[in-house]
Amino acid sequence: MSRDTRDRSRLGLRCFSCQEEHDPAQLNNVCRVCGMPLEISVPLPKGTPEDLIDTALESMWRYGTVLPIPADRAVSLGEGWTPLLDLGDGVWVKDESVNPTASFKDRGMSMAISAAVSLGAEGFAAPSAGNAGVALAAYGARAGLPVMVAMPEDTPLRMIERCREYGAHVESVAGTIGDAGKWLAEHGNPQHFDVSTLKEPYRVEGKKTMGYELYEQFRGELPDVVIYPTGGGTGLVGMWKAWNEMEAMGWLDGKAPRMVSVQAEGCAPVVSAFLRGETKTVPFPSPETKAYGLRVPSPIGGFLCLRAIAETGGTALTVTEAEIEAATSVAADLTGIDFCPEGGAAWAGWQRLRADGWITDSDRVVIWNTGSGRMYSEDVS
Ligand SMILES: *Cc1c(COP(=O)(O)O)cnc(C)c1O
Repeated sequence: MSRDTRDRSRLGLRCFSCQEEHDPAQLNNVCRVCGMPLEISVPLPKGTPEDLIDTALESMWRYGTVLPIPADRAVSLGEGWTPLLDLGDGVWVKDESVNPTASFKDRGMSMAISAAVSLGAEGFAAPSAGNAGVALAAYGARAGLPVMVAMPEDTPLRMIERCREYGAHVESVAGTIGDAGKWLAEHGNPQHFDVSTLKEPYRVEGKKTMGYELYEQFRGELPDVVIYPTGGGTGLVGMWKAWNEMEAMGWLDGKAPRMVSVQAEGCAPVVSAFLRGETKTVPFPSPETKAYGLRVPSPIGGFLCLRAIAETGGTALTVTEAEIEAATSVAADLTGIDFCPEGGAAWAGWQRLRADGWITDSDRVVIWNTGSGRMYSEDVS
């Protein structure tokens, strides 16, 4: 591992949609011209994976050379570098339940808080369906800065309690994550930096590390299919970015995995747009699902999810609440992995695609278990 001496003042920051350039030396949310998400471009280093991955770091920061913040400036709790569990027959589970606050939200929050602290943020806020709030509360505490989280009032109690244990102020709001966002815009502290999904450019950079991990865990290859339970879409967009970067660095020969977006039947803006052949999502009416991470009725990055699916030859499908519930317990029972409902949705999606023949016996498939089922139980103990 060579010392990381790249000049990060050459970071780029431009709108994913209209391409307007922004100043990466300032705290930024969405594009000041069109209001869409901003994309960071990291000047990609030259070298082989052996040169560029710091394998002594057992966290996502092992990929510091391709991240916008160097590993030595990380606000970290040891997130990422999670197990890829081999179930046999060409199927693996990427188990994100073992992250510091029990979901893959930690990757994005570690990156976002690290960046924002280096740019002078003095506090943080976000609406959250659950896990993002817990992660934000933990990383805010790690950085020693105040956090305000607005959550839908039916968020699992344990998640609300966890936020409070990390010292965050939690506001319960009637409605969905969209309503929680509106509450913050009206009543939040304007000094607190907003780290909402894709309204802040660095969370995707943290999620990008999932793509690099797959590459390393598959010993320099990638699987054929990744199955991802999609809410706001940072994970899908982040991994898609990783494939493109690895391609640009000459690490890949062969294709990027086909990306599959699984959503709940009761909240499926990405799937609906995909099935209509559209390039943008429209708000999903009366969103309803117990897989709370998927209850995002109007994802600002919906168009990016659709691009990632289309460019990789992927697909999108819904599963019912009954399928999610059954799959969550079957998957846990069969594998011993602490499946969350969103992971159960991905599992159910995998079963359907296999039955349909969209996935064949020769495909190597990775199912994403994005969080921990324990966080959803009603008892707070
Ligand atoms: C947030 C969340 C999701 C959705 O993730 P996105 O990257 O925003 O699409 C899925 N599963 C769990 C457990 C989550 O917390």
